[in-house]
Amino acid sequence: MIDVEVVIVGAGVIGLAVAHALAARGREVLVLERNAAVGLETSARNSGVIHAGIYYPPRSLRARLCVEGKRRLYRFCEDNGVAASRCGKLLVATGENEVDRLEALVANAAANGVDDLVMLTAAQARELEPDITCVAACLSPSTGIVDTHGLVTALHGNLQARHGQVVCDTGVNGVDRVDSHFRVRFASGGEPGELTCERLVIAAGHGATALVEPMLSEGGYRVPRTRPARGHYYRLGGPHRFRHLVYPMPDGAWLGTHLTLDTGGAVRFGPDIEWCDTIDYAFDDSEGRRRRFHAEIRRYWPGVDADALVPDYVGVRPKIYGPGEPVPDFGIHGAAEHGAENLVALFGMESPGLTSSLAIGEHVGDLLDDTNTS
Ligand SMILES: Cc1cc2nc3c(=O)[nH]c(=O)nc-3n(C[C@H](O)[C@H](O)[C@H](O)COP(=O)(O)OP(=O)(O)OC[C@H]3O[C@@H](n4cnc5c(N)ncnc54)[C@H](O)[C@@H]3O)c2cc1C
Repeated sequence: MIDVEVVIVGAGVIGLAVAHALAARGREVLVLERNAAVGLETSARNSGVIHAGIYYPPRSLRARLCVEGKRRLYRFCEDNGVAASRCGKLLVATGENEVDRLEALVANAAANGVDDLVMLTAAQARELEPDITCVAACLSPSTGIVDTHGLVTALHGNLQARHGQVVCDTGVNGVDRVDSHFRVRFASGGEPGELTCERLVIAAGHGATALVEPMLSEGGYRVPRTRPARGHYYRLGGPHRFRHLVYPMPDGAWLGTHLTLDTGGAVRFGPDIEWCDTIDYAFDDSEGRRRRFHAEIRRYWPGVDADALVPDYVGVRPKIYGPGEPVPDFGIHGAAEHGAENLVALFGMESPGLTSSLAIGEHVGDLLDDTNTS
């Protein structure tokens, strides 16, 4: 006797978006979350940017799910009263040596179906943002921002309306396969328990590797190792007149110390990147970090006042590669990767995971449906 049709481990934006998609397909869904509330980890500690789909290799999952996710996310926010804005972003070349790379990014975006980018001269860029300096820029009109807390809350509410449930304060400490179903062991409010389900989705962010390793490490499949990389954000503690997001040229997978707005109009800078061994959200406001932030921001906003930078928060990327290694795609692994039917495990769901979340939900739904009909 199976207790529930689908269990999803993790109530971040991706676990909730998967739950939302599966409940809309008529599945009975239960989400287990170890924290006291939904969306308190990576989903609460990011830039809140709805990415256009500029940077990712054409045909990759990141590119496809970002472009599709952006479309779904704007519509979901509109339908559900979640604050979001298509404020647009300027991608700036601050030296002549960066102009070729800017043009290459515009071409890459077009290959991803993002064909609304507009190349700007420095003068045109300054008409949009009078305080920035650059030699050329490109405007991405479909880039925007979303209130991530509002999004997570709306996803949770939608799920409940479809009779799906999230049980918080419930840490899953083991999953295994028993015959044709899964057994999920957990501690809920300190009390141990277990239940069985037909389908299992691991959307546990930093916790995904540890959870599935005992079940999946046999055979040829290698469970991706999750490696945390911290990113600090400073907010601007003074007035400003920015209306667009401003991004410097990326450095590999790192998008640089960018300027973002939130849906309340506040300006924030970051995130930097610092590989680490454990999840640590403590802000390290060292002199060196402040100097680096100030120098990086000055490249596109020479007038920034170092004293106006106020420590804000730290987010931790769940990376599945190490420093200097090639950047892999989103690790959304179904039976084709690990061989276990009715199981999807998500690894390395860093940016643009927030933008892509609703498209990821549909993609996971398709993977589970395919398993079921094969
Ligand atoms: C610094 C930073 C900036 C970013 N900026 C952007 C951006 O601007 N735009 C964008 O599109 N994306 C951005 N991202 C990426 C985006 O934030 C993530 O892709 C997304 O939030 C991941 O959601 P998630 O649900 O997978 O993870 P999480 O939000 O971490 O959720 C996982 C959940 O699983 C729970 N969990 C873990 N283990 C267990 C267990 N054993 N039992 C029960 N529960 C468990 C955790 O408590 C957590 O709530 C950024 C990420 C970072 C780190």
